[in-house]
This record gives sequence, structure tokens and C-alpha cells, in this order.
Amino acid sequence: MHSPIFSLEVFPPKPHAPVGTIYDALDGLQGLDPDFISVTYRHGTHADRVKTAGIAHTINFDYHIPVVAHLTALYSSRATVDEALDLFREAGVFGVLALRGDYVEGNEPCGDFEHASDLAAYISKRDPEMQIMGACYPECHLECSCLEEDVDNLKKKVDAGVTHLITQLFYDNEDFYRFLDLARAKGVEVPIEAGIMPVRSVKSINNMTKRNGSKVPPAVQRMVDKWGDDVPSLQQAGIVYASEQIADLVAHGVDGVHLYTMNRPALARRIWANVESLFTITQ
Ligand code: FAD
Repeated sequence: MHSPIFSLEVFPPKPHAPVGTIYDALDGLQGLDPDFISVTYRHGTHADRVKTAGIAHTINFDYHIPVVAHLTALYSSRATVDEALDLFREAGVFGVLALRGDYVEGNEPCGDFEHASDLAAYISKRDPEMQIMGACYPECHLECSCLEEDVDNLKKKVDAGVTHLITQLFYDNEDFYRFLDLARAKGVEVPIEAGIMPVRSVKSINNMTKRNGSKVPPAVQRMVDKWGDDVPSLQQAGIVYASEQIADLVAHGVDGVHLYTMNRPALARRIWANVESLFTITQ
């Protein structure tokens, strides 16, 4: 275990991408020795469950790294959640990141779970030994009118059984510290890991800010303006920026750092090389 916690996120290959890309990503992450790796989940088809569980199985049994599986609620029935949890247990996952997921235009939600808190409550009853994690949003979730209300809803998620939180990516640590103070003031006492995603390309930053509503602070905007057409330089600047963000978070006493690898092990490795000595090994 590291102090603070250090974890990584990977995702199953996109539907038309070669399945081997994930193994290249996992090979590239070897030696980073994270406390856990989390594997994302798509919208809730049988194939989604099998893919997430399969990658989790490989991480656990072949790479011997503790693993967490994400699970989304909107397009899942109780029966499909049961199926997912059985697959995850066979894969050896120790935790589930219980998520609501995003609405998909034209698709009708199943109706069994409205919020992540409903899924968390269901899992904690069905599978009391599974650790339940949840998502949180330092800059407020896009659909919520204000951070105060979003944190009130977050408290409901914790009361439903979530014992560990991971934030959405953010580029301004002050947003995280403001959110953290509010969450603690409202009685959210579980560990909160800070989600860090290095700037990789103009396209990826545009996608992320559009999808998540994440703010692009002036320092990041200047990097994009200067090196938008020069990917190696933009990525180098992104590595420096993410490393400085992490150093500041550790200095501030953060509970953990969750690195969104985007299945790009080279970026994750270079960031970890910069910050590893700031983390201590506790056991
Ligand atoms: P919720 O906690 O349900 O919150 C959604 C909205 O409802 C918020 O505005 C909240 O304020 C409000 N709300 C919550 N509870 C209540 C309540 N009881 N009453 C009234 N309002 C309430 N998406 C994927 O599809 N797959 C993934 O693998 C994935 N991984 C993620 C990992 C992390 C760390 C994060 C931060 C996000 C991830 N997402 C993933 C995206 C996530 O699914 C979306 O952000 C989604 O819009 C919200 O999910 P949630 O679990 O936070 O929802």
C-alpha cells in the first residue's frame, strides 16, 4: 500500500479496436505497482460485463494487482447487476465502483436504479463483502444546479454504502480543495482520491471538458495554444503539469491519487517517475 493511495484506471478496448491493445497497456504499466487498478464499464450489455470482468480477471490473476470493476446503473436491471457481480467475483475483484452512468439518447433506462446510491444500496445488501466505491465531482456534476446540492446527494451515496470516493478529473487543485472542505463539512468522511488526467491532445481535452464540464484553467489553455499542433511537446507539458498537480495534492495531505491512464502507459510511467518518491510504502 502507498500513502497516499495510488491507483490507475484502464478501459476495455473500444468495440472495433483489437482486443490485444489492453494487454499492451497492462504490460506497459508493469512495475508501477499501484494499490489497485480500476476497469471501466460501458452501458450494460452482456458483452460489456464480460469484457470488464475479463480484463479484471487478467489484472488480478496474471498481473497480481488488486482490481476494482466499474458498474453502471441506468441501463442495468437487478438481474444484469446480479450477473455482473457474479462475474466480478469470479474475476477476483475486491471492489465495485457503483455509478449511475450517462443517459444515452434514444435508449430507455431500465428503471431499477435511478441513482448510483440505489445501486450502492443494492450491492451492499446483496454482497456485503464487496467494497463499494463511488464517483464525485469537485466542479459539481453537470446535471446538478450547485455544488452544495451535489455534495448533499454525495452524502446519500455514502449513507447507502459507498466507502471510498474517486473524483472526476480536474485541472485546478483549488477546485478540489474547495470541494473537499465542503464534503467534510457535510459529513462525508470516507477517503477521497483525486482523479488526475494528463493533457494528451487538443481533441482529448475538448472531449473531456465537453463531456464532464471540466474547466480549463489559463495555464492549461496556454499549453494548448502553444503546442496544440505539436503533440510530443503538448504531452511533455501535460506530464509536467500533472506531476506538479500531484505534488501539490500530496503536500496538501490528499487521501489518494487516481491516474486516468487512458490506456497510455508511457504517460503514466513518466508521471509516476516524477512523483513516486513523494509516496511512501506502508506495508
Ligand atoms: P449519481 O451519483 O447518481 O449522480 C448523478 C446526478 O444525480 C448528480 O447530479 C447528483 O447530484 C444527482 N443525484 C445523485 N443522487 C441523488 C439522489 N439520491 N437524489 C437526487 N439527485 C441525486 N461512466 C461510465 O459509463 N462508465 C464508467 O466506467 C465510468 N467511470 C467513472 C469513474 C469516475 C471516477 C467518474 C468520476 C465518473 C465515471 N463515469 C463512468 C461517468 C459517470 O457515469 C457520469 O458522470 C454520470 O453522469 C454520473 O454518475 P454518478 O455515479 O456520479 O451518478
